[in-house]
Amino acid sequence: MVTTVKVVKSMLVLLEVLASGDGGFVVVVEVVIGGLGICSSYCSPVENQRKMALISAPSVIFLHMCVPMQGAQLKKHIDATLGSGNLREAVRLPPGEDLNEWLAVNTVDFFNQVNLLYGTLTEFCTASTCPAMTAGSKYEYRWADGVTIKKPIEVSAPKYVEYLMDWIESQLDDESMFPQKLGAPFPPNFQDVVKTIFKRLFRVYAHIYHTHFQKIVSLKEEAHLNTCFKHFVLFTWEFRLIDKGELAPLYELVESILQL
Ligand SMILES: [Zn+2]
Repeated sequence: MVTTVKVVKSMLVLLEVLASGDGGFVVVVEVVIGGLGICSSYCSPVENQRKMALISAPSVIFLHMCVPMQGAQLKKHIDATLGSGNLREAVRLPPGEDLNEWLAVNTVDFFNQVNLLYGTLTEFCTASTCPAMTAGSKYEYRWADGVTIKKPIEVSAPKYVEYLMDWIESQLDDESMFPQKLGAPFPPNFQDVVKTIFKRLFRVYAHIYHTHFQKIVSLKEEAHLNTCFKHFVLFTWEFRLIDKGELAPLYELVESILQL
């Protein structure tokens, strides 16, 4: 399963990818230059070799590391079905595949997608423009991870998103939660953690739609945002990952996607 996801923002990044050859790993690097859109994607099996990639002027780099082959095949399946344009089909569990594996691969994909979207807004979503993590005037989210921060604290939207993304990353990096070895068991609370991840990712969409949609339109990212969100909603609905009540800030949009 996917273990490491790194997000690096830099104008010039020397990216070093070290892949261990244990059973065949795949390194996927997606580079975004300028606005949204994956400009270059590298995905191939790497065994016992170091890959050095010099990437010029990317604004965001996502690195998914060490995906054992089964995860890689599922990832290919996602890309292929997404390419067909049928999102309803793309979210379904492929026949014969393990549900937890499918949830795990998709969790990483959606995490990256939300990171990409929010990454284009970081200069517009600041502690002064967004002193609280809101979704319209009715909803405000406070941060608590239940471990280091037990009592919810009020933080700015960018701080909230930072906490949220760091927390998700720590879950993805936790081998006992997202097993790296093929066939390694998922913990009993795996799906609960996946649900919490999706619940929190939804909040980033809710903030973007309510507070930064005009900026998204001016950046001409509207269609991309809508497609990402549609995919997100169809996936979370298919596997009942988010409680209906949590969807309230964007319920009309969710309703139109699901055609309820
Ligand atoms: Zn904001």
